[in-house]
Amino acid sequence: MTKDWNTRTKLVHAGSRRSQYNEVSEAIFMTQGFVYETAEDAEARFINSGPDEFIYARYGNPTVAMFEERIAALEGTEDAFATASGMAAVSGALTSMLRAGDHVVAAKALFGSCLYVLEEILARFGVEVSFVDGTDLAQWKAAIREDTKLVFFESVANPTLEIVDIRAVSELAHAVGAQVVIDNVFATPVFSRAVEQGADVVIYSTTKHVDGQGRALGGVILGTQEFIRGTIEPYMKHTGGSMSPFNAWVMLKGMETIDLRVRAQAASALAIADSLQGHKKLLRAIYPGHSSHAQHDLVVEQMTKGGTVIALDIEGGQEGAFRFLNALEIVVISNNLGDAKSIATHPATTTHQRLSDEQKAELGITPGLIRMSVGIEDTDDLIQDVLNALSKV
Ligand SMILES: *Cc1c(COP(=O)(O)O)cnc(C)c1O
Repeated sequence: MTKDWNTRTKLVHAGSRRSQYNEVSEAIFMTQGFVYETAEDAEARFINSGPDEFIYARYGNPTVAMFEERIAALEGTEDAFATASGMAAVSGALTSMLRAGDHVVAAKALFGSCLYVLEEILARFGVEVSFVDGTDLAQWKAAIREDTKLVFFESVANPTLEIVDIRAVSELAHAVGAQVVIDNVFATPVFSRAVEQGADVVIYSTTKHVDGQGRALGGVILGTQEFIRGTIEPYMKHTGGSMSPFNAWVMLKGMETIDLRVRAQAASALAIADSLQGHKKLLRAIYPGHSSHAQHDLVVEQMTKGGTVIALDIEGGQEGAFRFLNALEIVVISNNLGDAKSIATHPATTTHQRLSDEQKAELGITPGLIRMSVGIEDTDDLIQDVLNALSKV
């Protein structure tokens, strides 16, 4: 039944489980454990529990299961495992899939904590990681070896909004039998077709567009049922990175409106980017969905729309960027993204502060670069706010 529904219907109904009270809004099963009628029932459940039989919240919980089923229906994967945060999903997926001696190829433009996991933690356990410029297929080709086990990248890089060609990189990886793991936050689950294009595993920080209102941390790993139940579930249930039932409920309610929100945010992002082209206080106004983006054709083919984030390179370096931030009246200064509220960040001094000047330059993180996550406020108000702040630079 769920399979035949269109996206908006799945987002409201997929995965719903009703208790004996037949509640309309999904219940929060705020329980760590479950009671068995008899000792024999307990024994049987530990041997083989069905999809709607639960043992312990670290293994699974009805509210968490509802969320997992709903987001898998959106992404088009057989299954999903919900985690305590986006980083629990990234680190859990990588550590459960890899072992000492394995070789990984990763794009170097990564969320800071993902870079830490790949560079520091995996190295400590004897996993070799080669980094490439994710937009350069020749570098992927040169780095992927016969013994490469896994490739990892963000399909839209943070904060420069460069696109990795999922289809082309997946072909190179699959030719040597490597698995393709994509951190797909910036593409958003609404515009993603990553699995269709070759991804084996898709990961989201649900802290971003899925919650969409800045309330709770969460993450999710999506893939085949065999992979999720055979590789991810045993790892997560024994290491403790599962999502809490309360956060799963927040995410479940976020799923109901994600399509409406993200499409409105993307339309505003395009309108803002369009109104800023050629502005005299800007060196660049980058938005993947705008025709001026260097990889616009790939964006259209790969994700249809450009997502909800724009990047602005402000004249006058850090001083110009700070003046711009401090003059904003609607857009708040913070570091989340995908939120209902528009948010601006100065990556060089915050999210990417840890990187050396050389690394920042290599990744295009200039002193004047601002990342702006476009919210659901009125588009004209947002354009006015940005233009007004630019006039103060
Ligand atoms: C936010 C983010 C993460 C980490 O997610 P948390 O929920 O904060 O742990 C990982 N990757 C990307 C691309 C992100 O934007």
